[in-house]
Amino acid sequence: MEIVKPVKRNVLLNPGPATTSDAVKYAQVVPDICPREQEFVDIMTQVRQDLVKVVHGDPEKYSAVIFTGSGTIVQDVLVNSLVPQGKKICVVNNGAYAARMVEIAGYYHIPCVDLKFPATGLPDLAVVKETLEKDKDIAVVAAVHHETGTGVLNPIREIGRMAHDNGAVFMVDTISTYGLMPIDIAAQNIDFLMSSAQKGLAGMTGASWTVGNIAEIEKCKDYPTRSYYCNLFMQYDFFDRVGEMHFTPPVQTMYALQQAVKEYFEEGEQPRWERLTKCWEAIHKGLEEMGLKTVIDKDIQGRLVVTVQAPEDGRFDFFKLHDHCFEKGFTIYPGKMFGVETFRLCNLGLITEKDIQDFFVVAREVFQEMGYTLPIAS
Ligand SMILES: *Cc1c(COP(=O)(O)O)cnc(C)c1O
Repeated sequence: MEIVKPVKRNVLLNPGPATTSDAVKYAQVVPDICPREQEFVDIMTQVRQDLVKVVHGDPEKYSAVIFTGSGTIVQDVLVNSLVPQGKKICVVNNGAYAARMVEIAGYYHIPCVDLKFPATGLPDLAVVKETLEKDKDIAVVAAVHHETGTGVLNPIREIGRMAHDNGAVFMVDTISTYGLMPIDIAAQNIDFLMSSAQKGLAGMTGASWTVGNIAEIEKCKDYPTRSYYCNLFMQYDFFDRVGEMHFTPPVQTMYALQQAVKEYFEEGEQPRWERLTKCWEAIHKGLEEMGLKTVIDKDIQGRLVVTVQAPEDGRFDFFKLHDHCFEKGFTIYPGKMFGVETFRLCNLGLITEKDIQDFFVVAREVFQEMGYTLPIAS
């Protein structure tokens, strides 16, 4: 990949889009092409195969179905396409992204069992089990692997087992883990997972996909069609027969995704996870040294997002912290929790432990400017 001119590097510590390589950025600069050309269809086909490979899916059993849109489009597609007539979806809801799937079900008037649990902890599996055993109208169980809103990692293998024990299909939002944390789709009892190009693979925004169980996709051909553009079977069928998306794909985003997938395999699943784990450890170390507290127990964190509790003495100013960091090339993000003021530090992209250490140099300066003596006394 020719890097014509290095692009200013920003360290994104927000929950996606993530920091990307220059090669991914430049991959988008290609001759104009009609996506119906065989040359582009071949790229689509190769990328779809690779997207199944990332999660160790058997290509005979699983297929990647791509849509043009941000991650939420796959939540929309799966929620509206997988529920048979007269059946229900059950959402294991302990955070903002699970709540979004409940909301989508509401928009489509799909009966939904909203199993709410506190956002700061894990779902109560006994309640999930009991619910699935009692309500035989539940045909689909949905959960979020890693709640990006808080950093909680959910026990999806166990939830998937319960779904299957009760004859339900299991769909998981893995948008903030795919391409970051090792995932084995079959071993983790997943029928459908989700991902989006600008998150774990560190590509460009505009393409999102499910890797799904082909037998289950075939079944949903006969389910109610609740959306035209966001219908799973329609899109799968077009890919299967013609090798293309039904409507215009995000052409340049696909070139970037092809490069991002290449970089994923070059780095390797395990080395990538180790790099990110080091970033996460550096975040905890930096916070501890500043005397800042985290909200979620460390042992239930997914190692990709840390929710930080803001000091409550009136001197803390998130916007000041954000703006100063932004100027120095670091982007941080407000929290997504009720009741407490928080902010989040996310390590989803192409960043290193050194980036985190550099971030803390800047963060410490701002805290001192706000009048704190470090470490902050509790
Ligand atoms: C980012 C994300 C999404 C999708 O959000 P978009 O804004 O549509 O990209 C969905 N679920 C999770 C867990 C996410 O992290």
